[in-house]
Parts: sequence; structure tokens; C-alpha cells
Amino acid sequence: MEQIPTTAGPIDLAALDRILVHEHLLTAHEGIRFQWPHLVDAQGEQDAAVTQVRAAQGHGVQAICDPAVLDLARDVRLSLAVTEATGMPIVMATGVYGQHYTFLPHYFQTREVGALADCFAHDLEVGIQGTEVRAAFLKCAADEPGITPDVDKVHRAVAEASKRTGAPIMVHSHPVTRTGLASMAIFAEEGIDPARVLVAHTGDTDDLDYIEELLQTGCTIGMDRYGLDIFLPEDRRNATLVALVERGHADRMVLGQDACATIDWFPADVVKAMAPNWSFTHIFEAVLPALLTAGVTQEQLDAMLGANVRRWLGA
Ligand SMILES: [Zn+2]
Repeated sequence: MEQIPTTAGPIDLAALDRILVHEHLLTAHEGIRFQWPHLVDAQGEQDAAVTQVRAAQGHGVQAICDPAVLDLARDVRLSLAVTEATGMPIVMATGVYGQHYTFLPHYFQTREVGALADCFAHDLEVGIQGTEVRAAFLKCAADEPGITPDVDKVHRAVAEASKRTGAPIMVHSHPVTRTGLASMAIFAEEGIDPARVLVAHTGDTDDLDYIEELLQTGCTIGMDRYGLDIFLPEDRRNATLVALVERGHADRMVLGQDACATIDWFPADVVKAMAPNWSFTHIFEAVLPALLTAGVTQEQLDAMLGANVRRWLGA
């Protein structure tokens, strides 16, 4: 039986029927935390993460993939503490988000692609941040600035680490500028099996032509930002998903919220006002019932939270 590494130790992938593929225990800037630790309420962050995870457990969630990497303050000790408090396995990532989706630290700018790939492979094969918890997937990002030289370098390093280790890839995308296609083109050049790639945030658009073109590359797509109406309102997210199901793509989509138990990008009250429904449980409370009413079957929804995620995560 195939196992994946998590903060609760290796677990059998086949035993997971309900996986949240893209939620964040914490999204923050690690440099700010290092320089001004007095700004950080570590206990409050941990409590917020535990609250969200427990709520997800109330809806039968059995594992959570957290795509925190460099630039997002990935912290395996926080993940381990949350697992200890809740029993929830957290599936960790390795990779680079990219400052402003644009550039790498000088450390990696002045070194070859292989130096980045070595760091990723270390997390996938040895363990993260001095622990024995290994990452299970790779993460990179392309957003509005597009494929800058540094973003290109990260994509190629992620591809190299994937080829060395067999780990799957999640790529943050910006559908309005069609970056999913640009990312998939790089992975194709690098010889990556497209079935091993999840293009996150594809549900931020209702441009079905773009999504069809993206699906033709062979990737899985993330309808993974429910609760972030600022990018696309929920009724349009749902209508897009329903249209894709009608076109026969139910087995190519995964669901999520990209919710952050804590995010330091904005003052807390601004986050609450901007995205009042943004949580680890919004899809269970509002989205799944709406999709069932719209004609999506329970079996199809189960696949989007189970089999489709397992197929991407598995070797
Ligand atoms: Zn995210």
C-alpha cells in the first residue's frame, strides 16, 4: 500500500477518503518574524490553526495538504504541534513561492538550478527544518508578473527535484494572465508527466476556453479558493465547476479554500471584512450543498476530495 509522509508519520494514501488539498496553517513573511519577533503571537497562531483543523475534522477531513514553502513562513514545528493537538496529519510541501511572484533571494540567484533542486530534494528525502518529517510534494508559483527569469528557475528546479524523487508538483497560478499554460509548457520541456501536476487556483476564472486548454495539457486543476470572492464570486465558481462536470471533467478537479488560519499580509480586521466566509470548512457548509443542488453527484464530489487528490499525490 502506498504511503505518503505527513506530520503524523507515513500514512496509507488509500485510506484517505477526504483530503483538503490546499489550506494554510499559517501564511506569513519569515523575514519579518525573524527581525521583529515581538510582532508574532505564536500561541495565538497555533490556537487559530488548531481551531480550523478541528472544525475540518468535524466534516470528516482526514488529512490536509499545506503548501507553505519559502516566503510563506513554512514551519514544520507549528505543523507538528497542530498534529499533536488534533491528530490531523499535515502533508508538507517544499519549494519557493517567490517574493512578489517575481524574484529569488540572492542566495539562489547566484547559484545553479541544481542548488535549489538539492534543497527541495533534501526536504523530500531527509526531512524539513532538522526534523524527520519529509515533504510530500513540490510547490512553485507564477502570478501576474508571469515567468520572470527567477520564476523560470524555480519551475525548472521543482521539475528537477520531481524527476529525482518522484514527488508531485503544485503550481500556484493566475488564470487571468493564463500562467497555468506557461507553467505547464516549462514542465513539458522538462519531461514532467502532466498527471503529476496540480494547477492551483484555476477556479479563479470562469473562462472555460482557458480551462479546457489547460486540461488538454493533462494536469489536474484546483477549484481551491472557495471563500475568496474577491477573485471570483462563489456563484460563478460554482457555475464553472458545474459546466466542467457537464463536459466530463469531474475526475480532473480538486476542491479547497486556500484558507489561512492566520495570514499576516493584511491586518486581521481587513481579512475578516475582505473574506468573511474564508475558512477550512466553507466548502462543506455552503459549497457542496449548492453543487449537489446544481446536479453534481455526491460520487463526483467525493472524487474531488478523495480519489482525484490521491491520484495526484500518489506515485
Ligand atoms: Zn495557497
